Parts: sequence; C-alpha cells; structure tokens
Amino acid sequence: MKIVMLGAPGAGKGTQAKMIAAKYSIPHISTGDIFRANIKNGTELGKKAKEYMDQGLLVPDELTVDLVIDRLSRDDCGRGYILDGFPRTIPQAEALDAALTKRGEKLDYAVNVDVPDASIVARMSGRRACTGCGATYHIEHNPSKKGEFCEVCGEPLVLRDDDKPETVQKRLTVYHDQTQPLIEYYSGQKILKTVDGTQDMNDVFAAITGILEA
Ligand code: ADP
Ligand code: ADP
Ligand code: ZN
Repeated sequence: MKIVMLGAPGAGKGTQAKMIAAKYSIPHISTGDIFRANIKNGTELGKKAKEYMDQGLLVPDELTVDLVIDRLSRDDCGRGYILDGFPRTIPQAEALDAALTKRGEKLDYAVNVDVPDASIVARMSGRRACTGCGATYHIEHNPSKKGEFCEVCGEPLVLRDDDKPETVQKRLTVYHDQTQPLIEYYSGQKILKTVDGTQDMNDVFAAITGILEA
C-alpha cells in the first residue's frame, strides 16, 4: 500500500501517518522528520534546510526530491509506505510519479486531511514535539502522560520554532500557494480521498482505515 498524506501544516498528517504505519506495518516517511534529524546532527543538508524551515518556507525541490526517491528504494518499502509531508509541490509530485512509473509502480491513495485555517493556528500553538525521538503531542488534545517530557523516550518536549503563530501564518500561505494544488493533481488521478480532520483523532483514523479497507 502506497499512500501520500495531504493537508495543511497541523492538519494531523503526522499523527494519522504514525497510526497507519503501525496498523499496516509499513514505514512512515516524513520529510520534516528527516530534515529535523539532519539539523540535530549538524549535517550540511540540515544547515541548508534550516534556513528555509525557520522562515516557514519550503526547502527547495533540489534538496528534497532525491532524498525521498532514494529512501523509497530501501528494502523496508517493499510492501509500501506512507509519505507524510511529501510531495508538497507539483514538481515534487511529478518527480515521484516519474520515479514510480520507472519501477512499474503507482500510488494507491492520496489522503487529504481537511482542516480550515481558523482551527490550524490554535492547534499549532498547542503542539509539543519531542527533541529526542520526534513524537508529537498536544497540550489539550493529546497531552504527554509525563507532562513536559516524552512518554516514549523521556526527553523534553518543546514548541517548535516554526510553530510560533507568525511562522504558522507564513506556512499556511505557502501551503495554499504551493501544496494545495496537489489536491486537484491527485483528484485528476482518481486517487484522492478527503477526510474531515476536525474530528477527534480516533474518528479521523477510523475514516481513513475505512477508506483503505473499502
Ligand atoms: P508539518 O507537519 O507541520 O506540516 P513538517 O514537519 O512536515 O511540518 O515540515 C516542516 C518544514 O520542513 C516545512 O515547513 C518545510 O520547511 C520543510 N519541509 C518538509 N517537507 C518538505 C517538502 N516535501 N518540501 C519542501 N520542504 C519541506
Ligand atoms: P501535521 O503533521 O499535519 O503538521 P500533526 O499530526 O503534528 O500535524 O498535528 C498537529 C497538532 O494537532 C499536534 O499537536 C497533534 O497532537 C494535534 N492533533 C492531531 N490530530 C488532531 C485532532 N484530530 N484533533 C485535535 N488535535 C489534533
Ligand atoms: Zn521522545
């Protein structure tokens, strides 16, 4: 099963992608997580990516596409995968399609988690991310049982720099300009499925598994 998650920043893509990956035993591939791991490890890629991420801008396609295509050729992707945060531009989607076609493969679903902008800013200010393992919490909707520390690895939780309200506004503008056109792109391929992302996380998950198992 090859799935792409679409949706605004903070729509709940990562939350759902992790649950889907666990349920179907396929890897969860998040470009945001890959970039943050590179920043943490001080790599050249991390240094370049950080300049864009801090401003709420997309990392250029040249730094993003090959990274993902390489990742998809690893053994663990044999039974499929769930892509979270990629593609984010039409050229990224076209590059992905080209790489898949070359291997005689195709995507099964593009799942669009739909949440209006008005709900996004509030949601993002409550998001807390683990500095150790990247797990994500929400101070109201999904608090860590260990308070300001991660339930999984015990490291401190932080508000991501790019989750501050000024940067979230910028990211939403970038989303509407560069990423939202993918909804039409995948609708044209007849693989688009939209779910109401304003529901409780478990209800969103039930809606998605309903689609995948239909
Ligand atoms: P969110 O889950 O809140 O949407 P991500 O963790 O997916 O955020 O991404 C954080 C940042 O990493 C983005 O704002 C962008 O700068 C960069 N990024 C992640 N994925 C991509 C991509 N496919 N193309 C370009 N930039 C990306
Ligand atoms: P994305 O990957 O799309 O940027 P996340 O999965 O990180 O989004 O979710 C953004 C924030 O909203 C996180 O703090 C997460 O715990 C919370 N969240 C996710 N899904 C829901 C939901 N259905 N209802 C309320 N809060 C949610
Ligand atoms: Zn952790």
